[in-house]
Amino acid sequence: MTKSAAPSTTHPGWTSLSPDMPGAVGGTPLILLRKASEATGCQIYGKAEFMNPGGSVKDRAALAIIDDAERRGVLKPGGTLVEGTAGNTGIGLTLVANARGYKCVIVMPETQSREKIGFLRMIGADLRLVPAKPYRDPGNYVHVSRRLAEENGWVWANQFDNTANREGHRATTAQEIWQQMGGKVDAFTCACGTGGTLAGIALGLHDAARRDGVKAPQIVLADPEGSGLYGWVKNNDLSVAGSSITEGIGQSRVTGNLEDAPIDDAERIPDPEALDVIYSLLGEEGLSVGGSSGINVAAAIRTARRLGPGHRIVTILADGGARYESKLFNPTFLREKNLPVAPWLDQ
Ligand code: PMP
Repeated sequence: MTKSAAPSTTHPGWTSLSPDMPGAVGGTPLILLRKASEATGCQIYGKAEFMNPGGSVKDRAALAIIDDAERRGVLKPGGTLVEGTAGNTGIGLTLVANARGYKCVIVMPETQSREKIGFLRMIGADLRLVPAKPYRDPGNYVHVSRRLAEENGWVWANQFDNTANREGHRATTAQEIWQQMGGKVDAFTCACGTGGTLAGIALGLHDAARRDGVKAPQIVLADPEGSGLYGWVKNNDLSVAGSSITEGIGQSRVTGNLEDAPIDDAERIPDPEALDVIYSLLGEEGLSVGGSSGINVAAAIRTARRLGPGHRIVTILADGGARYESKLFNPTFLREKNLPVAPWLDQ
């Protein structure tokens, strides 16, 4: 008789019954990325966060923030949450709020993909689109959401500086990765919006390595152009240059979630490099992912080349490609920006 396989995660996820939708957040598969692995002689795995109920890694942050607000007694039955978001956190918050009987107000820059905007409307978010402004401008979506919370007595999720975000990843995502990899992880690469995913997983992998008495994995920030964090990691300089069509990542300040995160190195990935990875993942491996996943996998490939063959590297597939059909898979949009087009769309 064959022995049944040990459960692959610490979270019930799809391996068991769930009493409700929030119970089905997490427990995502870790998928070997064949082309990236073959090209480098390493094993590169992507954590399929696009398989969460709301379609992104941000379901975890949304659930962790709501659980924490309930525990602290600031979110009461029938209460209202408000958040500034590039979209995915808004989707996660709205769905968890629907499941638990809260109302949700979402403030979002109008430049985000029309697919995310449409989806937020579809699921019943009270959506307030605002012009895209830098963080130092009082009209920036984060400040608008904070003011709405103050003026109306709503609960502000505050995903950038509320460390319930990273603690959620530390307790779940990181432990799932460690268990799925059998405690053998040489490096982890991840982009940063709030920093919750990168810092939480970095801290959680360090916790797990300490517990097992082994060396902690190398933690590598994956940064798009137009973000200040690459310079911050490399030489403590947050100045920004260039731009990127990726959404939800890139940062020009050290958020509360990023503070004291154990980050060892950084890779800055230009959009054409990320797009080539995205097209290869879809066309050759059947994995439909969004822009930040392309940045993450490109950084994993660079890290694999730097470390040399035989290493085991993990990264995050943060959301799915369908969320960006009008951008990453739109030949007209891409050609205007002089960016590569997926071969099967380039007729
Ligand atoms: N990828 C995508 C697609 C996202 O929406 C976000 C969050 N805005 C991130 C990555 C970054 O995650 P975090 O906020 O945890 O840094």
